[in-house]
Amino acid sequence: MRLTWLIKPGELTLKGGNRKSFEAVLKRNLQTMLSGRDVQIVLHNGRFYLHTSEHDQAAVEGALSRLMGISGWAQTRSLPKTIEAVTAACVEEGKKLIAQGIAAFKIEARRTDKSFPHDSFALRCSCGQAVLDGVPGLKVDVHQPGAVIYIEIREKAYIYSDAHKGLGGLPVGTAGRGLLLLSGGIDSPVAGFFMASRGMGIDAVHFHAYPYTSAEARQKTVRLAEIIGGYCMGIRLYIVGFTKVQMRIKESAPPPWATVLLRMAMMDCAEKIARKIKSKCLITGESLSQVASQTIENLSCTENIVTLPVLRPLIGMDKDSIIRKAEQIGTYSTSIEPYQDCCVLFSPPHPILRGDPAEAITLYESLELEPLIEEALREYETVKCGYPLT
Ligand code: ATP
Ligand code: MG
Repeated sequence: MRLTWLIKPGELTLKGGNRKSFEAVLKRNLQTMLSGRDVQIVLHNGRFYLHTSEHDQAAVEGALSRLMGISGWAQTRSLPKTIEAVTAACVEEGKKLIAQGIAAFKIEARRTDKSFPHDSFALRCSCGQAVLDGVPGLKVDVHQPGAVIYIEIREKAYIYSDAHKGLGGLPVGTAGRGLLLLSGGIDSPVAGFFMASRGMGIDAVHFHAYPYTSAEARQKTVRLAEIIGGYCMGIRLYIVGFTKVQMRIKESAPPPWATVLLRMAMMDCAEKIARKIKSKCLITGESLSQVASQTIENLSCTENIVTLPVLRPLIGMDKDSIIRKAEQIGTYSTSIEPYQDCCVLFSPPHPILRGDPAEAITLYESLELEPLIEEALREYETVKCGYPLT
């Protein structure tokens, strides 16, 4: 049996002349997510209709729940526009609801095709009554229904009750690419997700300090990139060995400055990768004053070392909200696995709280990290995560 899915685009409906290009990217992303499956995607009056085999139901649900740029989606009945067909379908939906233990419903009707002889009020009344008559035990509750049966009269009649909210935002691939500094922690994967939800394609760089950090810590970061890659049509993860850089900082820098100088080195190195792969910005999971290295003064120190824009989508969020988002997007349980990140191992006991940016640059230059960064850049590893990338 073929299934039909109705997909409502989100913010892109506000676009003017370039709406078509946003729709084309959305369609291409969905095709990529479901590649190798028997699917057909049709755009009709601003809505997408996806036709699939019922065997692909789970895959379609997985894809639609990770697709950026849509406000909602539902598996729907697709029927000829007759009142008889619509009424019978509503009764079938009602039977489904009662079988799921739902006791109260309401009907929402929308008639886009004004040539259909029943307006939305008449549809609500007649179909609601038919459901009450045909499904004993089911009641109407317009204020707190257990479920809503939707009727949409468009080029066909669409009836559905299992409506899902989409992720919103814009289709990935409509806002350039950014390079995410991905640690193994809670924040940076969430930062990547937020930028992807604005349509940005994401690549990521992870710095490790083997043998001070373990192979498990590296694997954990790869798994985080896999999860985020599932939302942003794939991530190229660059894994860079930073042991020599960290050792130089530990041996030669004033201890309170160690973390800020390490962040500067990460930014410096990340920017070099970003320029090579034509990323337009750097993305971090920093949040104002969350830790000593993220005071406004210390953020100035780390930002001063680069010229690309540094985007920090979590800057105004508190930790609880970040954790809730991490749980929603499925990265939290991986992020809290106990493998240590390179920063933790080298953190000084009394970090500087308000570094002076000019002093930071002088200290940074005195460390002569350039050759060590160049060496790290000759040896990095690339892992493709999420969807296959060309
Ligand atoms: P998280 O580790 O999830 O980002 P955090 O609160 O532990 O959160 P910090 O360790 O202070 O944050 O790091 C700040 C930011 O610097 C991170 O969000 C990330 O963008 C970047 N970063 C830190 N460590 C690394 C690393 N090993 N590799 C790449 N980026 C890193
Ligand atoms: Mg961290």
